[in-house]
Amino acid sequence: MELYFVCPVTGKEYSSENWRIMGELHVREGLQGDRTLVGSVAVECPHCRSVHTYSVEDLTCPWTRAGR
Ligand SMILES: [Zn+2]
Repeated sequence: MELYFVCPVTGKEYSSENWRIMGELHVREGLQGDRTLVGSVAVECPHCRSVHTYSVEDLTCPWTRAGR
């Protein structure tokens, strides 16, 4: 699945399918039955060529984009 990231070094957006999960990823269910993925992913950045780690909650994924 393709996810969108923002490089913290250059501030540029990019999308990648080559991310990987760091540690455990789990789903937290909210009071309204909304679901939030909790965990971290690491991805190699095409702009600065280093590996960035992101909290999944901070990512703009297709699900949250469509939901709100
Ligand atoms: Zn970067």
